[in-house]
Amino acid sequence: MSEATPTNIDRPLTEAEKREFIDVRNQTPRQAFRRHMDKTKGEYTRKHKPFCERCATFDFQDALAKHVRESVRRQKVSNYTEALNASTMDFRDLNQYGADVRFELLSRKEHFETVRIQLTTVREQTGWMLDYRCKIRQCGHSVFVPLKEYDEKLAAKK
Ligand SMILES: [Zn+2]
Repeated sequence: MSEATPTNIDRPLTEAEKREFIDVRNQTPRQAFRRHMDKTKGEYTRKHKPFCERCATFDFQDALAKHVRESVRRQKVSNYTEALNASTMDFRDLNQYGADVRFELLSRKEHFETVRIQLTTVREQTGWMLDYRCKIRQCGHSVFVPLKEYDEKLAAKK
């Protein structure tokens, strides 16, 4: 398989590239939103922070429905499918759904796991389980924070 170089940039895509390549123009607004949300949510998961997927989805559905309704009213399009396809909704900034101010910390519990040491098993604390509530729609979120990173967080606040 040939790699992309400046001289063969117009060559057909390889099979592997075709699987990777998703034409943004061919995505429905829902697919685009879903892809972007999965990406953003992953970033918060890696940081061990809550992210309210539930609210983001509700807000997106509301915004999309409103957009489609208005498009039809303005007769830019004649039906729902056309309106969806013509949608240029921008939902790229989802960081408000992971903003610290959005969440209230309800409780934190030590998280234990059973660890095997030679012939015995011991219960060992591996981190903390933090329970948050999203203030907007009271959505519940449990976030696991590994011990090491939790300590670092505490240290950073001092
Ligand atoms: Zn929420």
